Amino acid sequence: MDTNTLIQNFTKRPVWAQIDLDAAIANIRGIRRLVGPQVCVTSVVKANAYGHGAIELAKVFLGHGADQVAVACLGEAVELRQGGITGRILILGHTDGHRAEELTAYGVEPTVFRYEDALRFSRAAQAQHRTVNIHIAVDTGMGRIGYEPNANGIREIQAIAALPGLQLEGVFTHFAVSDSNTPADRAYTQAQYQCFTKFLTALAEVGIRPVYTHCCSSSGLLSQTAFHQNMVRPGILQYGYHPSGTVACTSFTPQPVMSLRCCITHVKWVHKGQYISYGRHFQATKETCIATIPVGYADGYPRLLSNRTEVLVHGRRVPQVGNICMDQCMIDVTDVPNVQIGDEAVLFGTQGEGSLPLEELAAAIGTIDHEILCNINRRVPRVYVRGGQVVRRVEYLVE
Ligand SMILES: *Cc1c(COP(=O)(O)O)cnc(C)c1O
Repeated sequence: MDTNTLIQNFTKRPVWAQIDLDAAIANIRGIRRLVGPQVCVTSVVKANAYGHGAIELAKVFLGHGADQVAVACLGEAVELRQGGITGRILILGHTDGHRAEELTAYGVEPTVFRYEDALRFSRAAQAQHRTVNIHIAVDTGMGRIGYEPNANGIREIQAIAALPGLQLEGVFTHFAVSDSNTPADRAYTQAQYQCFTKFLTALAEVGIRPVYTHCCSSSGLLSQTAFHQNMVRPGILQYGYHPSGTVACTSFTPQPVMSLRCCITHVKWVHKGQYISYGRHFQATKETCIATIPVGYADGYPRLLSNRTEVLVHGRRVPQVGNICMDQCMIDVTDVPNVQIGDEAVLFGTQGEGSLPLEELAAAIGTIDHEILCNINRRVPRVYVRGGQVVRRVEYLVE
């Protein structure tokens, strides 16, 4: 990608998250092939599609193998509706019954685990002469949301299933450690699954048969192929990352979709002994060439990475030095000849022959890829690339 073209024509601020749509398409196709044609693929695009841009990515996933999408909350669902997504949208988190009218009007499917909420959804459905499809959450060991799998849970789900205007579309659970490969954790996932299927059997015995039953996010999808049921909910895998270091994708190679890029705004030589940035945590030990880049922790580049990460310049890795500030930080480009203002720097991703995987950044600060991706915020324009061409840009702040 010619950086100057990008800057002049596609972004106003020389910082951008580049989104490789070919990679996204390859990933969702890989997922589709892996689960087969019969399983419903619910593409998880919560948190602005893990920072990639929910509307764009929902369209791409739906166009290349996904059957429907899922978000975390009603606001995210409304954003998708307003962005032209007409397909089915599942909300994975809690939607309070007080928002039933809005939810019903937008034709969105809530996760339900309280009778009072279901009652309000039922009333709104009747008032609007519509049907609200609901998914019931069951807590089999995640300890987050859902009915406990016991007789009480069955009674309440029966009561909900009998409410007019509601269609019991799904029953699902979520694994706590399906991203771990230790024997103890694999046994825990196995136990969660058994608990889930036992509960489904008990529901069937009282005549409750949801259209979909589902439990696998990316990690379950990869590590527990026998647990797919008839729906899966891939998130991180679609964006090109393994769910963890121990759960591998062997049937296709996930291709990272996002890279974080910017242009150098300042270059200078500093003398031995000079300090760089807040806190004086970096001191030059010799004549050093320092470049400044316009990305900081307010963009989602974690401050914890200060002095602990690298950046690509001219395809080579250089150290980030000094504290990462809110909007800027510095890099040591002494070993790269002829670095100029305006040259591209890559905070994660690839550049020429160079590669700086996001996994390295996440590991350096003890977090997971998901967190860094979804923290890349709306101050950073998204630039969508397909077949080597920029096909679209999204500026959240100015248009
Ligand atoms: C976020 C989420 C997913 C997707 O998780 P990944 O690990 O990113 O694949 C699936 N199901 C539920 C309930 C979630 O909250």
